[in-house]
Amino acid sequence: MKQSDDNRLIPMTSVDSGKLREVTADVAYYTNQIVNLVFIGQPGDSWVLVDAGMPKSGTEIIEAAEARFGTANPPAAILLTHGHFDHIGSIIALAEHWKVPVYAHPLEFPYLTGAQAYPEPDATVEGGLLAKIAAYYPNEPIDIREVLQPLPADGTVPGLPDWQWIHVPGHAPGQVAFFRKSDQLLLAADAFVTVQQDSLYKVLVQKTEVCGPPVYFTTDWKAAHESVLKLAGLQPETVISGHGTAMTGTALREGLQELLDHWNEVAVPDYGKWVPKN
Ligand SMILES: [Zn+2]
Ligand SMILES: [Zn+2]
Repeated sequence: MKQSDDNRLIPMTSVDSGKLREVTADVAYYTNQIVNLVFIGQPGDSWVLVDAGMPKSGTEIIEAAEARFGTANPPAAILLTHGHFDHIGSIIALAEHWKVPVYAHPLEFPYLTGAQAYPEPDATVEGGLLAKIAAYYPNEPIDIREVLQPLPADGTVPGLPDWQWIHVPGHAPGQVAFFRKSDQLLLAADAFVTVQQDSLYKVLVQKTEVCGPPVYFTTDWKAAHESVLKLAGLQPETVISGHGTAMTGTALREGLQELLDHWNEVAVPDYGKWVPKN
């Protein structure tokens, strides 16, 4: 397996880095600098990992997982919501350590098999400091062909019989969310996030609000809008996004509605290389 050529430590963090927070008895999320990974499974039991964190965080993530599930208890699988650097940063370290299959949507395969780079992040886009320095973020592909498998076409999730995956393109072509109907728990990936991800200050303090996808990587705003409509239609009761603090109930519902009602003003930047001109 091969890490991307531009894989590097990104010196950004938040007050929540290193925290593990439980949302239900069997679902917890771990904040690694500025991104969330999700641990699904009862402590000590069999489990599945969603996403692989920031570059150079393998040891930290393994320690957090071992503290919850035990040292000789690798996950049944690793699921990737999409292939952006902040979600796959330590995938090679994790896959080599645990020797488990990694699942993703086939439309993300080019970026996970060394075939194609994502477009350069848009540092010209309207946004705060974290958008301005986006040119520094890795966008080159990694190659994890040896362990990579497609998510089953029927929407089921390997290792998680109660869950389904949902295709939510726009921010990335093969981005997926995960949903459990029994308690309406949604893992939204970066389809929408619960912190304004281009603002250094809001990321640092993790100010909680429903926001559109991180602007500097989002290439298709129309698809991104349709994806959020699709997720809102599931009527999630709780959400864990790729970035930000988990949200529930009224705050989540009102925030999502507000985002959808004012999509063009609050989600879509005023300018940027992928912003539709009208
Ligand atoms: Zn992303
Ligand atoms: Zn992200």
